[in-house]
Amino acid sequence: MEINKVMVIGAGQMGSGIAQVCAQAGFAVKLNDVKEEFCQKGLAVIAKNLARNVEKGRMTEEEKTAILGRVSPSLDLQDAADVDIVIEAAVENMEIKRSIFSRLDEIAPQHAILASNTSSLPITEIAAATTRPEKVIGMHFMNPVPVMKLVEIIRGLATADAVYQAVENMTEKLSKTPVEVNDFPGFVSNRILMPMINEAIYTLYEGVATKEAIDEVMKLGMNHPMGPLQLADFIGLDTCLYIMEVLHEGFGDSKYRPCPLLRKYVSAGWLGKKSGRGFYIYE
Ligand code: NAD
Repeated sequence: MEINKVMVIGAGQMGSGIAQVCAQAGFAVKLNDVKEEFCQKGLAVIAKNLARNVEKGRMTEEEKTAILGRVSPSLDLQDAADVDIVIEAAVENMEIKRSIFSRLDEIAPQHAILASNTSSLPITEIAAATTRPEKVIGMHFMNPVPVMKLVEIIRGLATADAVYQAVENMTEKLSKTPVEVNDFPGFVSNRILMPMINEAIYTLYEGVATKEAIDEVMKLGMNHPMGPLQLADFIGLDTCLYIMEVLHEGFGDSKYRPCPLLRKYVSAGWLGKKSGRGFYIYE
């Protein structure tokens, strides 16, 4: 299964990063979003990241121009008609993802792999919206994509071995490290990370320590580069709550219940860095 042409759906935080690393690895990339301005914003982020690499002497101006030349904007899912793989990084919503996959199934060539960058939604359920569940797989990149080495590769119930292998090979071409996991709520990364963050929020909620103290303990004591409350602000508190709900519902185990303080912040619109306020205040 040879992969040359890639389509990325969603030009947001993750989609633009995925498009960038694919173009850097030599793939031709179509970057799709629902509005021209979103595509342009994604392309501008890529251009800015590459310009920083040139400034720091990590690549030449010519390399930058060649990489940018490999990414083209797309506003129409019909553009998937000649690609070898689609990597979907639209919003974390099952209904939207199923509708995208069902349409892609009609448009993309028979051999094309349909991958999702979902952080928590079941790959098997997304795959069931298509007639090719054996070609559907999870490709979970970490944020920020150009920096982080890991890609969790999630096998859905029906994912074929050849498809897994092709995606693993592609991940290595992107200079990332693939790790194979099975399709269970939160996969491995968020099943372990989110309960830790939720527990840190409980620790604050119960008055065990201040937010600064909690983050300091985890940074200095456990050698984490960032404290859990600061990390939650970076991920987005709405996303953290959403993933805790997925774990809670998926396992039916009360140990995954989201902390009431997390719910309260999300209802207040305190979503973390992106809204200017979460556990901390951002200018
Ligand atoms: P984002 O909000 O920055 O970007 C989402 C983009 O998708 C937006 O530009 C939006 O316009 C676009 N979009 C929405 N519906 C679309 C459609 N029907 N067709 C095409 N584009 C559409 O979100 P993000 O943080 O980039 O997250 C994207 C996906 O990646 C989610 O599934 C999320 O769970 C996953 N993810 C996020 C992170 C993270 O740290 N943010 C990490 C790993 C995985």
